[in-house]
Amino acid sequence: MMTFVMAMIAAIGRSFVFLVMVLVLAATGQAFAENAVTGMRVGAVQIDDRTGLRLVIETKAPLKANLLLLQSPYRLVIDMPKTKWDVDKLAPRGNLQVAPGSAYRFGNPKPEIGRLVIELEKPAAPVRVFTLPSAGAGSRFVIDLLDRGKTAFLVASSALEKNPNIDLNDAVTDRAVVKDADRVKMVKPLSMPLPKSKPARHANKPATAALAAPKPRPRKWVVFIDAGHGGKDPGALGKAGTAEKNITLAAARELASQLRATGKITPILARDDDRFLRLRQRIRLARQNQADLFISLHADSARTSSARGISVFTLSDKASDKEAAALARQENSADLIGGPDLSAEDPEAAGALVRMFQRESMNQSARFAATILQHIRDLPGGDKRGHRFAGFAVLKAPDMPSVLVEMGFLSNRTDEANLNKKSYRQGLSKRLAKAILVYLSEYGPKI
Ligand SMILES: [Zn+2]
Repeated sequence: MMTFVMAMIAAIGRSFVFLVMVLVLAATGQAFAENAVTGMRVGAVQIDDRTGLRLVIETKAPLKANLLLLQSPYRLVIDMPKTKWDVDKLAPRGNLQVAPGSAYRFGNPKPEIGRLVIELEKPAAPVRVFTLPSAGAGSRFVIDLLDRGKTAFLVASSALEKNPNIDLNDAVTDRAVVKDADRVKMVKPLSMPLPKSKPARHANKPATAALAAPKPRPRKWVVFIDAGHGGKDPGALGKAGTAEKNITLAAARELASQLRATGKITPILARDDDRFLRLRQRIRLARQNQADLFISLHADSARTSSARGISVFTLSDKASDKEAAALARQENSADLIGGPDLSAEDPEAAGALVRMFQRESMNQSARFAATILQHIRDLPGGDKRGHRFAGFAVLKAPDMPSVLVEMGFLSNRTDEANLNKKSYRQGLSKRLAKAILVYLSEYGPKI
């Protein structure tokens, strides 16, 4: 019995010691939470038959980095929180001999942030970002940069500016991309070291200026309000003869004044008169104005006059129902009225990068749609038809959350009469403005 008790005490003692050890490990783990860059390499990488730059940052622990793309000169800024430089053999600045990279520099703009700047000859943007365990200890942070043109650069730059924490690792879980990355890695092992001593082009500039943070954003959010149709494109026609283009313009103006009244939002109207605009022109206008949100206003029409109510749409390849698919076709056909579009600036052609950002923007758009639905729930006049999905061309901007609101059915007499009433449009706009403010306060860039 005595032996048994002794054994018990010993066991308790051991588990106590074990517990203390766990606590000590946890505490020292905290103290060592600081990460360190232990090496950097660049090499060429083949992506879709084109040659890009692969940058590998070796770190002690897996890296969470903030990325920014800046112009004049084109450059990628990588900010690494709580990261120090443990790269004695590497000069803090130098030239890069792998296109499109031309120079690099690194340092700590603030004691707790490690910053690496890669200067680029061309408007190259990250097409892949992922982490890999290192062969030895530590971790590797890999960024592949490719020049896909200025539009793709601006799209990526704007998306990163709004969300530098954008989880590109997540986007890379796309099986095809990961498989491709593996293939690339095996075909082209990373072996090209960074040059050590050549001075960078801007070596004469003081390090603090070179590592200065980008200029801050304007202090108000920018919301782009897209009044559907216009000019030679009247949109849907109501039972009593109402033209959709007039309803959308009236509602857009009302929403703009409600947003302006918040004091926190600058509304931008796609059109403030009766003019024809192509769908892509509308997106381009929003981007030029660096909009944080895109909201397109429409009024529906259906064969059955009983259909009524408000729908909030976001982009999807697959429409949520047949009616939604037909509606998207109908709305997209607005562009056919203006003849073929020969615009060269097609962000969709920018490829994988844009799709990556589009996925993130689709998630944000869905959140925005849900916020709108919460706020219009109490609006009298029409069952709410909820959040639906369809391939609306006007929602394809990959760098800003975008929704399309079908404010009601002009083919329904009650909805048509409501939409013709200023007081109804005011009630709707007030709720939309509230939803926009709530969404931006939670998910928008900090102002
Ligand atoms: Zn429409």
